[in-house]
Amino acid sequence: MFGAAAGFTGSDQPRPGTGAPGSGYPALVLNADYRPLSYFPLSVWSWQDAIKAVFLERVEVVAEYDQTVRSPSFEMRLPSVISLKEYVRQDRSPAFTRFNLFLRDGFRCVYCGSKDDLTFDHVVPRSLGGRTTWENIVTACSPCNLKKGGMSLHKSGFSLPRKPQQPGVHELQAQGRRFPPNYLHETWVDWLYWDVELEA
Ligand SMILES: [Zn+2]
Repeated sequence: MFGAAAGFTGSDQPRPGTGAPGSGYPALVLNADYRPLSYFPLSVWSWQDAIKAVFLERVEVVAEYDQTVRSPSFEMRLPSVISLKEYVRQDRSPAFTRFNLFLRDGFRCVYCGSKDDLTFDHVVPRSLGGRTTWENIVTACSPCNLKKGGMSLHKSGFSLPRKPQQPGVHELQAQGRRFPPNYLHETWVDWLYWDVELEA
């Protein structure tokens, strides 16, 4: 629908609406497996480059700012997080992030299947030595999380539908296609390593 605006020449140049600083609104760039293309430095594009890539259909918009850009022929919200359609091969496994963990579990509580009020649960509680890893963290709704509390899985009466594991790149990509942009997140934090978030 924005096809006519691709090219951005002359008066058709998109501009941020009122109040936007010139260099503001960068987009976090994720690989096709939803991990940042790079961490140090963090892969970030200017809003101009991000929009160009959207028009060229090289990226999917994962999340957006409220800020819009306008030109005589179109208006769109600025992307805040984009993911490449083509996977840039890097010999690494998917990042251990909040978003990827929700994605692995299909945005549902692993204990009751609820889609609401989601948080994370340590299967083996931290108080019992449980670690913050793919194998010990699962998506859980707040009520289940609260009910389970500091108990072991066995003691709590809860059970897991499957053993939590580190997902593969293709598994995450397939899951990602099931969920529309802004399904859950508004900030970049969700795409960054877990320990970054924990230390923030
Ligand atoms: Zn639940």
